[in-house]
Amino acid sequence: MIVLRLAAIPLHEPFRISNGSVAVKESVVVEIRRDGHSGFGEAAPMPGAFYSPETPESSWAELEQRLLPRLLSDGWMAPREVAVKLSEASTDAFARAGLEGACWDLYCRERGEPLWRALGSAPRPIASGVAIGLYDTIEELLERVSRYLAAGYRRVKIKIQPGWDVEAVAAIRKQFGDIPLMTDANAAYTIADAPVFEELDRFGLMMFEQPLAGGALEEMAELQRRVRTPICADESAESIEALEKIIRLGSARIVNIKIQRVGGLAPALAMYERARAAGMGIWLGTMPELGIASAQGLHLATLPGFNYPTDVESSDRWFVDDLIRPALAIDRDGFLHIPDGPGAGYEVDREKLERYTTRKATYD
Ligand SMILES: [Mg+2]
Repeated sequence: MIVLRLAAIPLHEPFRISNGSVAVKESVVVEIRRDGHSGFGEAAPMPGAFYSPETPESSWAELEQRLLPRLLSDGWMAPREVAVKLSEASTDAFARAGLEGACWDLYCRERGEPLWRALGSAPRPIASGVAIGLYDTIEELLERVSRYLAAGYRRVKIKIQPGWDVEAVAAIRKQFGDIPLMTDANAAYTIADAPVFEELDRFGLMMFEQPLAGGALEEMAELQRRVRTPICADESAESIEALEKIIRLGSARIVNIKIQRVGGLAPALAMYERARAAGMGIWLGTMPELGIASAQGLHLATLPGFNYPTDVESSDRWFVDDLIRPALAIDRDGFLHIPDGPGAGYEVDREKLERYTTRKATYD
């Protein structure tokens, strides 16, 4: 039996990036029940056209109409086979990631095995970085940087867009010195803006995340030739095929792997292996997901070669509450520690799950 729930958790403050703002996080929570065990996954697109054309409503519909019938008719199978089946049935990567995540969780729980082991890894603390959105004033930005550095986060990423870039970075460098700092433009610039990045190049940033449009791989390669700072592919890294092209053209030296964007843990694992073979820097990004999917991502990020801090943050960084126990929480040095136990090691809090569910349906 499979249960779909739409969960909605408010944010402490709206998250603003170069293409929109959001105040409530909605996720489709997928639960597969089998022989007394439950496996959970999460499909976590943003609403509207924030990062992607998919929305919580469209992913729900895709699960209901294409993906669940496929899984229910073909019967239970191992998670890696599920990923292949689902990729044949739907192009909605978020919906596939939600259902595939639930399959991995169930698979691990039936075996009493942690997810890192099923992924062929070993546990280690995961360094967490903070992502800071756009603000109206430099003062507000500096206040947020100060707050999250004090909390322990191991690097600071700021969102930039034309008109909010060099000045913002210069102000942070002036006040906080040589902290691990990077920018994320969410594709807000064109190659005509290369001089902006040549100026930003002076600040010794860890990387420029997605300076240009997702498909502008040749232009990104040109920009990479003009700056020393490594370019990180985020929106561009939408599939293993796209990653191949990035590697061939030299469009980026670092890749941000997002499980939701590529359709689940198995496709993300394949991209990780390809990026590692190509000698790229690698880190785990978020959409952001709620705790269920974020916790699964931490297990992927234990693999060797995930060598930059993850965007997975403490649950209370964005959300007024979370659906897992314990909540995600960095230690004072900015590391996340995976609890012992089967699956992701975190347990879904059923009382909270029901409290934040706004829609529910069951499928046999
Ligand atoms: Mg990004």
